[in-house]
Amino acid sequence: MENSIIEKLFNAVEAERENLFSLIQRLIQIKSYSGEEQEIVEFIVSKMKEYGFDEAYHDGFGNAIGRIGNGPIKIMYDAHVDTVKVTETENWVHPPFGGEIENGKMYGRGVVDEKPAMAGFMISGKILKQIYGDNFPFTLYAVGSVLEEDADGYPLYHIIQDEGIRPDYVVLGEPTNLKVNRGQRGRMELKITVTGKSAHGAHNQKGINAIYKMQPIIADIEKLDKKLKPKQPLGKGSITVSQVISKAPSTCSVSDYCQIHLDRRMTIGENKNTVVKELKEIIKKHKSDAKVSIPNVEGTSWKGTKFSMEAYFPTWVYDEKHPLVDAAMKTSKAAMGKAKSGVWSFSTNGVATAGLFGIPTIGFAPSDESLSHSSKEVLVLNDLLKATKFYALFPFELMERIER
Ligand SMILES: [Zn+2]
Repeated sequence: MENSIIEKLFNAVEAERENLFSLIQRLIQIKSYSGEEQEIVEFIVSKMKEYGFDEAYHDGFGNAIGRIGNGPIKIMYDAHVDTVKVTETENWVHPPFGGEIENGKMYGRGVVDEKPAMAGFMISGKILKQIYGDNFPFTLYAVGSVLEEDADGYPLYHIIQDEGIRPDYVVLGEPTNLKVNRGQRGRMELKITVTGKSAHGAHNQKGINAIYKMQPIIADIEKLDKKLKPKQPLGKGSITVSQVISKAPSTCSVSDYCQIHLDRRMTIGENKNTVVKELKEIIKKHKSDAKVSIPNVEGTSWKGTKFSMEAYFPTWVYDEKHPLVDAAMKTSKAAMGKAKSGVWSFSTNGVATAGLFGIPTIGFAPSDESLSHSSKEVLVLNDLLKATKFYALFPFELMERIER
C-alpha cells in the first residue's frame, strides 16, 4: 500500500477524532439490551445516511446495515450493538449509561462488548466516502447486529440466509485488545433426558427414580471436563452442566423425569459428532436408556421476527498465513506500528460466518475481552482511534493480497 494513501486515510481519521469520541459516547448512552435495540439501530441507520453511506437500513431481523461501494469483493464489518443487562449487584463507579470520560478513558456498559467497533466502522465509512466518492474496488458493509448476546451467530446467519448478502470476508468488532483475532472455540448446547417410574414416597421401592439414574451420568460429565485435551491456539474445550430439571407428580413422590442442560465449548477436532458420541459412551457405560438431543436456540427480535436454529456453532480458526489474517497484520502494523495475532475465549458471530458458512473471518477492536459483561468495562479512547485507522485502511490491504 502506498504511503501517501495510508497517510491520507490516517490524517482523515485524526481529523474525525472528536466526532468519533462523541459518537461512541452517544452509542453508550443509548441503552440497548438484547431484544430492545430499536432506538440504537434507528440512530445508527440515520447517522450512516448522514455520513454519506450509499445505503443504510434495518433488515428483516432488525440489524442495522450500511453499505458503501459496489465492487465485486464484499467485505462485511460486524459489531453487535446489543448488550447484556446491568444487574442490581453490579458495582459501577461511573454510571453505566453515562459514557463518562476520565483521563482519556470511557466507562459504561458496552465500551468493551462491543460498541466501539460500531463507532469506528461508521467513521471509517464516512471518511472513505469523502475521499473516494463512488470509486471503490470493493463493497463494504457495516453491520450493527442485534440479539448477539442471546444468539451469537444468528444475526449474521439471517443476513446471509434470508437477506441474500453473502460477504467474501468478515471483520468482527468483538474486543481483541487491538490484536488480530483469527479463531475461537465452537459452542453447542445439549440435553440429556431420562425417565423413571413414579411411586408414592411412602412406597418408593415401587418406583424408579429418574434423578438417581441421571446422577452417575452427571458425575462422569464432570470427569470428562477434566480429561479434555488442549489444542493450540484455541486451548481446551469444556463441558458444563448448566441446568437440572426434574419432575414428579408431587414433592412426596419418586421423580419420574430428569433432564440436564449442557454447555459445550469445542476446540480443534471436536464437533457435533464427537461430542454426541462421548456422551453416548457415558450413557452406555451405565447401561442407561437416557437420550441425548441438541435443542434449538429460539427468540424474537425487536422487530417481532421470530427465529429458531439448532444450538450448534462450529469451531473455527485461520492460519497466520491466510491472506485475510496477513492483510490484517499489515494493517495493524501501519495503524499502530505493531501487530499480534490472538483468539477469543468466548463466542462471537464468527460461528455463523466462519463456522457454518466457511467465510474467512477475523476480528480487530479495542478493549479487553475479559472485562466483558462486568462493571469494569473500560475503553482507552486512543485505542478506538487506532482501530478506526485499521478499519479505514484494511479493505485496501486486503484487496492487494487477493488480487495477487
Ligand atoms: Zn460481544
